[in-house]
Amino acid sequence: MSAAAVPARPRWGAETLGRRLAAIAGITVRAGEPLARYTSFRIGGPADWFVVPETTAGLAAALRAAWEEGCPVTVLGGGTNLLIADEGVRGMVVRLGRPLSRVEWDGASVYAQAGASLPALAKQALQRHLSGLEFAAGIPGTLGGAIAMNAGAHDGDMARIVRRVEAVRRDGTAVSFTGAECRFRYRGSRFLGSGEWIVTGAHLELVPDDPAAVAARMAHYLERRRRTQPLGTRNAGSIFKNPPGDYAGRLIEAAGCKGWREGDAEVSTLHGNFIINRGGASAADVYRLLRRVRRRVKERFGVSLELEVGLVGFPEGAEEDEV
Ligand SMILES: Cc1cc2nc3c(=O)[nH]c(=O)nc-3n(C[C@H](O)[C@H](O)[C@H](O)COP(=O)(O)OP(=O)(O)OC[C@H]3O[C@@H](n4cnc5c(N)ncnc54)[C@H](O)[C@@H]3O)c2cc1C
Repeated sequence: MSAAAVPARPRWGAETLGRRLAAIAGITVRAGEPLARYTSFRIGGPADWFVVPETTAGLAAALRAAWEEGCPVTVLGGGTNLLIADEGVRGMVVRLGRPLSRVEWDGASVYAQAGASLPALAKQALQRHLSGLEFAAGIPGTLGGAIAMNAGAHDGDMARIVRRVEAVRRDGTAVSFTGAECRFRYRGSRFLGSGEWIVTGAHLELVPDDPAAVAARMAHYLERRRRTQPLGTRNAGSIFKNPPGDYAGRLIEAAGCKGWREGDAEVSTLHGNFIINRGGASAADVYRLLRRVRRRVKERFGVSLELEVGLVGFPEGAEEDEV
């Protein structure tokens, strides 16, 4: 089903929440905003309420209003690791992006707001002769999303460089966590999926290094990506997490799924763990395809692949559904 075919439905809290959000300073609010343009897949139906905070006070006030109205909240960063349902998202979607992307360097430390671009931070680190973010140069999206996901590659991840995270609870109260308190794990943290905390900024600790060595590592990682990933296409990075001791991409390729299609969604012929939107793919197409792939890998190798990509606006339990 395409987003255009989605039937009209009453907006969540149209009377109460809409009025409250409109009165809050430091945020931009749109009703019924289509979300496809905010995702790297270019897929996703409308949000009842789409809120872009320009200040953390505005964010806190919007969260408080949603909390008091019992409205569900979904957080969006760069939308580079998400599949948003064609039917869209009920409640309030908060997008942390450019308006909240201040970056302040202090020697080998940096404080950045959650909306800062992760690849841009990596580039700035190189310019400052600092090591620790080389792995991130090719990971699109925001700092907030990278922290929630504990984004990583090439033996690096966010957990190693995060010293402190500033967050807002969903009732609008501000909290700060040490790196250890973030409960980082493989592609996850306490911030992911709980809906409880929204990262507003973080302090990272890098180490001084020879700029030529930093540049060489970064270039090497980026070149490897260019060779192995379908860059320049509409995708959301790795669809599945790597199972212990193996690679999802290897299993998918060995199971013969490369090139499989559902509508305009295709398993990349370059990297089996990427699904590409060839133009008009719906979320339903991508979802059908990823389930087929998961089923085939399970039949062939007995391995249940877990989703890395986050499903938004899907019915509860959609992540596990194997039928
Ligand atoms: C071409 C390509 C290559 C990629 N390569 C890699 C890779 O090598 N390694 C890797 O780990 N990932 C990779 N990814 C996936 C993705 O880029 C990362 O996971 C990225 O860190 C997600 O950031 P985002 O801002 O886009 O988050 P989003 O996709 O917007 O959100 C991801 C999750 O984080 C949550 N979130 C976002 N912002 C916040 C916040 N401020 N507070 C709390 N929760 C928040 C969201 O609710 C969602 O659950 C790749 C993606 C693409 C398209």
